[in-house]
Amino acid sequence: MEKEITRRNAVGKIAATIALAAVAPSAFAQTKNNPKSSTDPDLTDPTTKYPKPPFKRQFQPFPGLASKMIPVPDHGEESYVGSGRLTGRKALITGGDSGIGRAAAIAYAREGADVAINYLQEEEEDAAQVIALIQKAGRKAVAIPGDIRDESFCNKLVSQAVEKLGGLDILVNNAGHQKTHESILDISTEEFERTMKTNLYAPFWIIKAVLPHLKPGSCIIGLSSVQAYDPSAELYDYAQTKAATTSYVKSLAKQLGPKGIRVNGVAPGPVWTALQISGGQTQEKIEKFGAHTPLGRPGQPAELASIFVQLAANDASFATGQIYGAAGGSGQP
Ligand code: NAD
Ligand code: MG
Repeated sequence: MEKEITRRNAVGKIAATIALAAVAPSAFAQTKNNPKSSTDPDLTDPTTKYPKPPFKRQFQPFPGLASKMIPVPDHGEESYVGSGRLTGRKALITGGDSGIGRAAAIAYAREGADVAINYLQEEEEDAAQVIALIQKAGRKAVAIPGDIRDESFCNKLVSQAVEKLGGLDILVNNAGHQKTHESILDISTEEFERTMKTNLYAPFWIIKAVLPHLKPGSCIIGLSSVQAYDPSAELYDYAQTKAATTSYVKSLAKQLGPKGIRVNGVAPGPVWTALQISGGQTQEKIEKFGAHTPLGRPGQPAELASIFVQLAANDASFATGQIYGAAGGSGQP
């Protein structure tokens, strides 16, 4: 009997893997211990769960495609299992095509939410995979490409998401721009503006547009970073946007708490995403990416998905104004 169940699980797992591989091929599957019996603990060692440095040096022009990274990041395509925590919810995720936003989109859909994603036109290939995965989870998927550095587009993004989903109750301001510069003297005003517009103006415009649609119980999630607390010398502009994100999350939580709208942030450490290999880090840092963390490796987007689910779910009803970290042991605070 035990054998039969194990075999059935294995066959089911292989079938699911094959089905998903057609949509989103991953260079590595999550290595999960298969407990031999129901009394065996289901333990996975976080130090060996995912690839460690050294990584192959690689560069893609901004914004980069997750599907062309070596290794391809794990966004939970083959591993995230939902349990109805967000049934009937409606989410808009900026930058939902790849990386952390993609992991949130997959998890939200498998938890029962309809999901709209925004991304840049150049990311259509990654976005199409996410749309297929949301649909495969049996949920409504809406693709709204466009550049959020433009206020009128941000307004259009929200109105289209509301119209196509029939409302909105989760906003994840995840899109972000990061470019490494050795010196402040190398940052042009244009580049500084790109970072500010993407990371700060866009959330400001999108939140203003979304707010009239949010009912009590809704939530907003911002993307902060370890950079907010311990900024790198060569991320002068990016780091300050993440400190500002932490601040806007805490300010808005106070403003919107009485209206029953929760506002929280996620502060990742080094996570293996397209942002890093499309100008976010030097090639030297890509090679050693994540080596400095106590776990000895970068995080994978899939490892953050449950945080986004938790922050959006009704049972986290007392969590607002919080910043949840996931940094492999070396993040602050
Ligand atoms: P990613 O490149 O996969 O995602 C970022 C997304 O931002 C892109 O996919 C793109 O669609 C979107 N974007 C950028 N500029 C845009 C614009 N002008 N208009 C519309 N969309 C735009 O990388 P990621 O690491 O998953 O980044 C997601 C968030 O996580 C970002 O806010 C980033 O700052 C934050 N973060 C990442 C790390 C990390 O190590 N990867 C660490 C801390 C914080
Ligand atoms: Mg992308």
